[in-house]
Amino acid sequence: MMIVMKPNATQEEIEHVLARVRSVGARAHVSKGEEVTVIGAIGDREHVARLELEGAPGVSQVVPILKPYKLSSAQLRAGERSVFEIGGRRIGGEHFALIAGPCTVESREQVLETARVVKDAGAAMFRGGAYKPRTSPYAFQGLGQEGLRLLAEAKERYGMPIVTELMDVRDLEPVLEVADVLQIGARNMQNYTLLAEVGRSGCPVLLKRGFSATLEELLMAAEYILKEGNEKVILCERGIRTFETAYRFTLDLMAVPVLKQLSHLPVVVDPSHAAGRRDLIEPLSLAAAAAGADGIIVEVHPNPEEAICDGPQALRADEFAEYAALVERAAAVAGKVFTHA
Ligand code: PEP
Ligand code: MN
Repeated sequence: MMIVMKPNATQEEIEHVLARVRSVGARAHVSKGEEVTVIGAIGDREHVARLELEGAPGVSQVVPILKPYKLSSAQLRAGERSVFEIGGRRIGGEHFALIAGPCTVESREQVLETARVVKDAGAAMFRGGAYKPRTSPYAFQGLGQEGLRLLAEAKERYGMPIVTELMDVRDLEPVLEVADVLQIGARNMQNYTLLAEVGRSGCPVLLKRGFSATLEELLMAAEYILKEGNEKVILCERGIRTFETAYRFTLDLMAVPVLKQLSHLPVVVDPSHAAGRRDLIEPLSLAAAAAGADGIIVEVHPNPEEAICDGPQALRADEFAEYAALVERAAAVAGKVFTHA
């Protein structure tokens, strides 16, 4: 249930509603908008309905949240967009974040060189995996702790927030030491114990859509994180499986405006993993930005021919600045500005 307070409701009236919601074992989620405060009561609907809060002082109306996802629903924020501040950069609303870096951390030179190039070109955050989900168990699995150390060095030197993947809760502590955003990969989108754990960590999360997940399943996955009190979830469309074999996955660009209708959470697009091909990254990025995406996460490598993984879908570092300038223009079409330090 969603309890919409009157614009002039006092703090005392809000506290009173919160206490009553909690008294029936429901969780109360307060969302203070510019005009009104909305209280999401998450729990047994019957119990909350029996409180008859419509007549309570300061309450304007009580409306059911019709979707199965509650905390991520656009309804909870009455249409207001969530904007997160991460290491001095903003994402959501009118703020567009370009997140760039290699698929995986390979070496000190590779990480520092890529970080320098993407920072100079206006990227907001740096991506790079130390733990990699690989289709083959015989493939390179990431540098692990050594990779985290190199990411920490890049962060220290260039000051960019770090986006890095967490695959296993057992690695949470060391990963949290360097991560500003925990990436949950497509393959782990429905790993519910992992989702709850990153929810409890309080660290912002970039949640990738599973390649056969519906948007509702993606939002239910986000709900697992939000339910633990972590409000900073960024949704990521990264391509889904279809019958088409001409490219790696099919980028579902319709997911951008539709997710933004369904949810208040920021939505970013990953053209690298969708396409699997460098030549498609630019057109897909421009389309995503113009469609209103709140950011792009893209792979970049100083020498893609020698990359350990995902080289064919990485932008060349020496072409990145030109690419970033084009994306900035496309984002402007949708009324967004690049976020910088
Ligand atoms: C990645 O970002 O490098 C990655 C493995 O992504 P996904 O989980 O979308 O496949
Ligand atoms: Mn990759």
